Amino acid sequence: MALVMFEVARNLRRVQERIRAAAERSGRDPQDVKLVVVTKTVSPERIREAIEAGATILGENYVQEARRKIAELEYPVSWHFIGHLQTNKAKQALELFELIHSVDNLRVARELNRRAGRTRRVARVLLQVNLAGETTKSGLHPQEVIPLLRELVGFPHLSIEGLMTLPPFTPDPEDVRVYFRALRKLRDSIFQEIGVPLRELSMGMSHDFEVAVEEGATMVRVGTAIFGSRN
Ligand SMILES: *Cc1c(COP(=O)(O)O)cnc(C)c1O
Repeated sequence: MALVMFEVARNLRRVQERIRAAAERSGRDPQDVKLVVVTKTVSPERIREAIEAGATILGENYVQEARRKIAELEYPVSWHFIGHLQTNKAKQALELFELIHSVDNLRVARELNRRAGRTRRVARVLLQVNLAGETTKSGLHPQEVIPLLRELVGFPHLSIEGLMTLPPFTPDPEDVRVYFRALRKLRDSIFQEIGVPLRELSMGMSHDFEVAVEEGATMVRVGTAIFGSRN
């Protein structure tokens, strides 16, 4: 048990250190990169170790699984939803999560806006973009982002704060640099074309977060490098 605690804390510190180094070598302020510690399939006991070692933002993929853990872990941390969100889970997701990284269609956006309005809240979201057009992954085609945004900016209870992507897996993280760069360029072109400022770029996971930071990530989502591999 003591060994396990040491490992999670040590791994977390190493990831934080690598984020800082990647930010500094690309001329960025390390404070501008938030670490989302991804806890899907991880037990509450191990999540507790990460929180006690300093994790402040935790990411979950499934609403049911998160609900149980969040109830058990009564810490003042921020939970983010990073999985695929079904419209019928929008209400629960709003209750549990401070930020939803994975909005990719009008229906779910409309439902989040409606549910948030009922409780006089604002749903904070990112739009998920599928840059490589992979059929196995959710996310908007890059060409769909501006047309959707034009509709969403009129939703009073929806705050669109940025873009998220999950690039194809490649053994060499250098190979996904083009996708991270493409997400940043998409963000910049959205501002140029329709004047909507999107601050957040959620990109980079265990094996490629340093490249993502170099390309402008403001949030990296890291699980395996902290907790070890999931079975
Ligand atoms: C699981 C997951 C992660 C974390 O992946 P690791 O390789 O374990 O760091 C990040 N983002 C999303 C969307 C995920 O589903």
